[in-house]
Amino acid sequence: MAVCEVCNNDYEMSFEVHAAGAVHTFDSIECAAQKMAPVCDNCQCRILGHGLESDGQFYCCAHCAREQGVGRLMDHA
Ligand SMILES: [Zn+2]
Ligand SMILES: [Zn+2]
Repeated sequence: MAVCEVCNNDYEMSFEVHAAGAVHTFDSIECAAQKMAPVCDNCQCRILGHGLESDGQFYCCAHCAREQGVGRLMDHA
């Protein structure tokens, strides 16, 4: 049993995510995404797929990257 660090739900099916040397505990993928997922620099949506990264900025898709002037990035096939 562990308590979700996002919503404080004490849930027997909670799980740990190890990232960058830290351990995070969540009760759901939704809470994990809220804490861990990067946000698109153009449309501010949560990036749950591969996304795109350029110079420390994250984009949900090539369209958003282009909107921000990052034209060389392509969507993952
Ligand atoms: Zn939670
Ligand atoms: Zn976007």
